[in-house]
Formats: sequence, structure tokens, C-alpha cells
Amino acid sequence: MKITNIKTYNVRPRWCFLKIETDEGITGWGEPIIEGKADTIRAAVHEMSDYLIGRDPRQIEDIWTTLYRAAFYRGGPILMSAISGIDQALWDIKGKFYNAPIYDLLGGKCRDTVKTYCWIGGDRPTDVAAAALDKKKQGYQAVKMNATEELQYLDSYEKIDAVLKRVASIREAVGKGFGIAIDFHGRVHRPMAKVLAKKLEEFDPLFLEEPVLSDHMEAFPEIAAACNIPIATGERLYSRWDFKRLLQTGGVDIIQPDLSHAGGITEVRKIAAMAECYDIALAPHCPLGPIALSACLAVDFTTYNAVIQEQSAGIHYNVGRGLMDYVVNKDDFAITQGKICPPVRSGLGVVLNEEIILEEAVHNHNWKNPIWRHEDGSIAEW
Ligand SMILES: [Mg+2]
Repeated sequence: MKITNIKTYNVRPRWCFLKIETDEGITGWGEPIIEGKADTIRAAVHEMSDYLIGRDPRQIEDIWTTLYRAAFYRGGPILMSAISGIDQALWDIKGKFYNAPIYDLLGGKCRDTVKTYCWIGGDRPTDVAAAALDKKKQGYQAVKMNATEELQYLDSYEKIDAVLKRVASIREAVGKGFGIAIDFHGRVHRPMAKVLAKKLEEFDPLFLEEPVLSDHMEAFPEIAAACNIPIATGERLYSRWDFKRLLQTGGVDIIQPDLSHAGGITEVRKIAAMAECYDIALAPHCPLGPIALSACLAVDFTTYNAVIQEQSAGIHYNVGRGLMDYVVNKDDFAITQGKICPPVRSGLGVVLNEEIILEEAVHNHNWKNPIWRHEDGSIAEW
């Protein structure tokens, strides 16, 4: 079998889908994307196609290594997201060739279901208690929310109090035992991060995400020591070598590599195994589309330390199109009691509606995240 063609499609809300075609008629899908840089990723994918056309798509390890090592320059969000989508599509093809779900090619399932959580509250969190209660009624056992809006290096305690009030309102609405994950989103700087983390302890959050940016990973041990809350991070790390530094630095309890940013299924399996050696859990980051989610599930079902899966149903970013809009076999991804079952079909297990993808691609979305500024006019982290 040989790769004959590679196509990419920018589709709403902010995604890029990739299709790899072969001379045997088997096709594979991937989702190579860095949100806000869709056209850059497409260019990277098409540049990499020189190394792909004519290759046997089943030689995934060698193709991955060629794309990563043989091109001299490596790593970072653009190159690794391009490799991620290609890797997902190669696994999809391989699964379809052997008529097996990817998790069967990776040693078989090690769990029957995987827990998932929903986003609530949007970019500027409001009405979170009602939203959390609604998710609980739908059967979810956990939600995630942004902690705060813009926060300066040193900021007012009124903003801290507003965060505490919001989280308190959720805890009161959903009761004990329901998971409340709190994403600092890299919006919080080190001086306020430890203050906020310490004060959130009383609400027993499921975890704190990106309490500071991974750029400041040396601060994680200090933040971890300041509070009794599991610390999560990793959506802005892109390879084993990035995660090596994090694991060696410590202070982190849950890693969140993104299957569309951190080298795909091949790489995230290795990252997860490294984390397991440190007794660290895996919770793949996935505010993206159905192909990325399927790739996450292939890892979750074959990775002992996988604990919970993010997915984008109802997320505030999904404007115009949603998680299941491109999927034909929606029932295979049903979320029951907050859990997802392993996809049953071969490959990634997702059947896509190509007609809608082609319609969408014509419009070529140009999604960008908002630019935020502090009161003094300086740029704020979004
Ligand atoms: Mg996050």
C-alpha cells in the first residue's frame, strides 16, 4: 500500500481536517491544528507531504521519525501539530487495513469506559452553578471552568474573591464528590497563582490546570507545595522532550498532552508511559473536533494512567459547528453517565460526512482568539 494524496480542509469552528489517500482505496483522517494558525499548519502538512507520497502508510514509527528527526529542525506547536494530524491519519489507515480499532493494534483495551468532563461558564465565567448542576443532571461527574478573566501580576483581592464565590456556588449546587476542575488558562502569574491556589483548597477541586504557563514550569513545585490540590498542565508542551523537563521539574500530578499538538497517538503513548513511571496521571487535552477526540480515546483505552478525557460538546469555542456535526456514527460517541465507550469501528472509529466537510472548507474559517488587555492598556494573557 502506498500514500497517493494528502488533502486538508479548514472547517468551523476552528479546526483543520486532513485526509490521506492510498492506492488501495483506504483513506485515513487526522486533525492537525493549532487553534488560530490553521493555514500555517496546512502549509506545514503539505510541505511534509514530500516525505509521505509513495510511502507505505503502515510504517508509522519510521514515518514519524522521518518527519521529526530527518528534517533537522524539530519540535514546537506548528511542526508537532502537523505531525500529530498525519500520525492520526496513518493509524486510521492501519486500523482500517487490519479491520481493527486502533486500541486493538496497541495491545487491547485496559478499561471498559473512560470518564469525561464538560466545559461550563465560557471565557468570562458566569452562571456556573446552574450550568454545573445541569451537567450533573445529564449524568456528568465532572466539569471544568476558567477560574478568572484577566489577572495582573499583582491584582485586586476582589477578583480573587469573585473566583472563590463562583467556585463556592458550584460546590453548593452540586454537592460533595462532583468534580470541579479549574483552569487558570495561563492567565494567572506566579505571584497571584499561589494565593489563588491556596484559597481554592477548601472547595476540593478535581485539579488546577495551568496555574502558571508551562514556560514557568520551575514554579510548579512551589505552587504544589502551597496547596493540597492536584496540579495539571501540558496542553502547550509538544513532545517527549518537553514533557521530560516537566517530569524532572516536578510539582505536577496530571499531564494533559493534546493529541493534535504533541505528536499524535504515537508520541502521546510514549509521553504517557514516561508519566506513569512518575505516578502521574494522563488527561488528554481536547477542546477540538471528533478526529482528535477519537485519537485521544485510542490512547485512553490503552493507557493505564489515563484518568479523564476532555471533549468539546457544548464548549464556548464551538460556534457555527459542534463536535458531532461532521460525524455520521454519532451513537458510537454517546456520553452516558459522563462516560464514553471505546469506538467499535476499525481505525479511529469515526465515520465523517465528507459532503459537509467540503461545504465548510469553501468558507475557510479564519478563527482567532480574542486579544485581551488589562485596565492599564497592556496585553493580558487570554
Ligand atoms: Mg487549559
